[in-house]
Amino acid sequence: MTFEALGLNTSIIKALTDAGYTAPTPVQQQAVPAAIAGKDLLVSSQTGSGKTAAFMLPSLHRLAAIEPAAAGKTPNQEMQSARARNERPRFKAAQPKMLVLTPTRELALQVTTNTDKYSVNLRRIKAVSILGGMPYPKQMQLLAKNPEILVATPGRLIDHMESGKIDFSQLEILVLDEADRMLDMGFIDDIEKIVAATPDNRQTMLFSATLDGVVGNMARRITKDPQVIQIMSAANKHENITQRVHFVDDLSHKNRLLDHLLRDESLDQAVVFTATKRDADTIADRLNIAGFSAAALHGDMHQGARNRTLDSLRRGSVKILIATDVAARGIDVPTITHVFNYDLPKFPEDYVHRIGRTGRAGRNGHAISLVNHAEGMNVKRIERFTKQLIPVNVVEGYEPKKTGSAPRSSRPGGWKPGDNRGGAKPGQRSFSKPGSSSGAPRRDGVSGSNEGYKGPGFKANNPYNSDRPRRSYGDR
Ligand code: ADP
Ligand code: MG
Repeated sequence: MTFEALGLNTSIIKALTDAGYTAPTPVQQQAVPAAIAGKDLLVSSQTGSGKTAAFMLPSLHRLAAIEPAAAGKTPNQEMQSARARNERPRFKAAQPKMLVLTPTRELALQVTTNTDKYSVNLRRIKAVSILGGMPYPKQMQLLAKNPEILVATPGRLIDHMESGKIDFSQLEILVLDEADRMLDMGFIDDIEKIVAATPDNRQTMLFSATLDGVVGNMARRITKDPQVIQIMSAANKHENITQRVHFVDDLSHKNRLLDHLLRDESLDQAVVFTATKRDADTIADRLNIAGFSAAALHGDMHQGARNRTLDSLRRGSVKILIATDVAARGIDVPTITHVFNYDLPKFPEDYVHRIGRTGRAGRNGHAISLVNHAEGMNVKRIERFTKQLIPVNVVEGYEPKKTGSAPRSSRPGGWKPGDNRGGAKPGQRSFSKPGSSSGAPRRDGVSGSNEGYKGPGFKANNPYNSDRPRRSYGDR
């Protein structure tokens, strides 16, 4: 599949080639042709799957096709001719053709930067971001250029709308990027107000990690006959992997259970994931003493030692690998029958990467998570991310003392596999992002019509701004 095949014009394709994009990502393959055809879109796909280009490329294509004559004078030109006529220049509102709403300044700037990249060969098309924290004269200067594309956070945009600086009557395309996050941040009223100010015959594209619950309700309200595009994460390729959870009371219970499960007859080779390098070493030592052929694999080891360990695993002289996420990524050993989460991963995406170490080459695999009672929420986050319930198992003789969490997977009214619509009740916070602070209120305490993120503290919990490397497309 090529960008040409998606029907994009050659100026855009040249820019993409120059940017080093060789082929459209799956979400782009589906979204671009539909959006060029003018369809409304509801899209959910993983972080890093290329959603910005998925809405920006078809939009640029459409905007580039509009006759330049129809664009009219810019507010600056208007003011100059007014001066020439010796009249007092009047401010004329900017009339953007496209509006992109994003939850934060950082994301708005990213979208603008990408747009500049994709539109380098489209001279006429300008994109500007209107953000909280930007000096007012600067914003007025940007708006006076009458840009075709406005990228904004909802709060600041409302200010400009209300003071008559922006007129949306000519708007053709409305994009809500990371809609679930905007709702989490309390922007729903602002969004409704902005949407109401745009023409009914606009094209609307909504992007979100989930299309459930509150986001789904809003999405259906503001779109017309939308095409729904859901690019499932690697998760749904794991149907040949049996997953289960065992609750444990404490570390000693966890270790005893692990030893027991490692003696399972169906186990050929296994990877045990730990949260820390030190745990990987400790557990490997303990298992070796207990008679298993175990080895640790983590980032503190020299490349030579890592390669030797991986070779031993491939040859079968190591049966059990105790690994951290980074070290084990991409391991492809078909004889790995079991993956254990000694510690749950921090991010649901990592769970998917981890369990993908088994069930390779069309075989079956087992993914077993040893979970403390207090970590039930983390299991739920994984279940929402993978859209699969993970059954809870109990082994005779290794029963947890606490049983409260056991019937979790048969709870009534919960999320059911295959149920992507309206699972969450209105007002109930639906699962949003891998790694997001689940259920936490906005840290800066801002709600309603104020600007996006301002205070410190948000960053640490925000997978988009964190120091953790972004997952780029193709990183599976
Ligand atoms: P998302 O919004 O889905 O999280 P982004 O739009 O931010 O993802 O894109 C993630 C990264 O992938 C960006 O660095 C972007 O430049 C890059 N990217 C997007 N599409 C492609 C493509 N077709 N080929 C190569 N890189 C791409
Ligand atoms: Mg994005």
